[in-house]
Order: sequence, then C-alpha cells, then structure tokens
Amino acid sequence: MGHRTMRLRKRPKSREEAPRARPGGAPIIELRDVTKVYPGGHLALERVSLAIDRGEFVFLVGPTGCGKSTLIKLLIRELDPTEGAVQIAGRDIGVLAEKKIPQLRRNIGTVFQDFKLLPNRNVYDNVAYALQVIGASRAEIRRQVPETLRLVGLSTKLHNYPDQLSGGEQQRVSIARAFVNHPPLLLADEPSGNLDPVTSIGIMQLLYRINQTGTTVVVVTHDREMVDKMRRRVIELYEGRVVRDEAGGGYTEESTNEFGMRMRAEMGVGVEGHTNGS
Ligand code: ADP
Ligand code: MG
Repeated sequence: MGHRTMRLRKRPKSREEAPRARPGGAPIIELRDVTKVYPGGHLALERVSLAIDRGEFVFLVGPTGCGKSTLIKLLIRELDPTEGAVQIAGRDIGVLAEKKIPQLRRNIGTVFQDFKLLPNRNVYDNVAYALQVIGASRAEIRRQVPETLRLVGLSTKLHNYPDQLSGGEQQRVSIARAFVNHPPLLLADEPSGNLDPVTSIGIMQLLYRINQTGTTVVVVTHDREMVDKMRRRVIELYEGRVVRDEAGGGYTEESTNEFGMRMRAEMGVGVEGHTNGS
C-alpha cells in the first residue's frame, strides 16, 4: 500500500494507439475524442478530449444530463466509449483484459452522492472492508483504517453504524473508504449533492486535504458558488461536449485550515462542529 504510481502492467495490444507519453509524464487522465452513445441511441458524450495531470484538483460541472457521470464511469471502465480512447496514466484502458479491471479500480477511489455504505457494518468495518477485498494484511488494516479515519475526522465514531451518523459523517466514511489505500486518483460524483452548505464545505476541505497529499482529485458538482470560490480548474460540459476548461486562479499555497477558513468566510457560514484540524 501507499504506492502513488499507477502501474497497469499489461501493455496495450493495439498498435494504432496514440504515441506513448514519457514514463511518469503522461497525464493521469486523458480522453481522446471520446463519444458515448447509449444503447437506444442517446448521445451522452460527443468527441470529448481532455487531459488531467497528476496532482490536479479539477471540478467537472454542467447541467443535469450533460454527461458528467457518464464521463466518470468511462474512467473506471464501468462503461466503454463508443468511439475514442480513455487513457489512465498513459495506458488505454479500453484494451485491458477483464481480469485487469479490478487492478485499475483499486487505483481509483470513488465517492458518490448516496455514500453506498454497508448498513450492517460500523464505520471501522466499512473502511476496513475496502482493504480486505484487495487482500491487505491484518497489520496493514489495523494501521491504515484508524489513520484514515483520523484524517477524515471520525476517530470518535468508529463503532457507529451508518444510520447513527449525519449525512456529512456518512460521506466522510465513504471518502475514508475511497482513500484508505491511498490511490493516486480520486473521483467524486456529486459528493455534496445531498448535504447542506456548511457540511459541503467540510467535505470539499477534506477533498482538498486529500489532494494535498498528492492524489489527483476530480469532483463533479452542481455547486456554482463552491466552484467559484475554490478557484481550481473547471471543466464544463454541455450536452455532452466540453464548453469550458479554465485553469484555477491561485491559492495554491493555502493550508487545509486556511482553505476551510477562507471558504467559510467567503460563503458566509459558520464553523462545522466536527471537522478535524490539521
Ligand atoms: P449527468 O451526470 O451530467 O447528469 P449522465 O452522464 O448521467 O449526466 O447522463 C447523460 C445523458 O445520458 C442523460 O441524458 C441521461 O439520460 C443519459 N443516460 C445516462 N445513463 C444512461 C443509460 N444507462 N442508458 C441510456 N441513457 C443514459
Ligand atoms: Mg450525474
């Protein structure tokens, strides 16, 4: 665990793929002319090309139905593109053998609006489970789970079940689960979609902290105000096409706490009770 480089050992079989990037220099995400047509004919993405470098924090925005979740699903090969190529760390994931897909997903943490926690397991076990399924040792689990729950500010709730947590806390558990094996890439699809503004800032602050550890973070959101205030790169989709791709405007040297304080001040909200400083 703790590996930050993403190695997908299988070499692509296709000889028609685009030129291989320098080792280590390839964007962590690259879409080349990706089109997705769903069965039934709905065009969800149309010739989308974009590249995201290691370590970036990127917002993916746009109205409902513009293709954001489709794009996320293409990155973890939950869907295949109809045309074009999706590359992760310089490798075309379209040519990965079925049995290599779990290895791809192990390197990509995912967080969703609806948390997707196991209702019959407590906080500790929900996070531990993510390590168990990838064959981590018991020693590793005993080390990584408490550490990650500390990072997300849930050290005092280890024994709570999901229905004994607030929405914000449940989302923190799901972020802990996504991050516990320190993947180089974290994808969050509307992580604060069900949360109030104060709690949402806490969640963004946490994603920001994770980004500061070196993990690339891509966040789908509807929250315009949050996006404006965070001043990070924004990729906007409209009807399946990229209509905006804007670099963020600075604040790169902010600590996590400075970030949280600025966000709360600019958005005019109070301090969230249970955030854990760092
Ligand atoms: P967003 O996440 O931006 O709201 P989605 O990527 O979920 O949008 O969906 C993009 C478009 O594709 C929408 O019009 C949606 O109805 C359609 N769509 C999504 N999933 C499917 C599917 N499984 N079958 C057919 N159409 C789909
Ligand atoms: Mg969606």
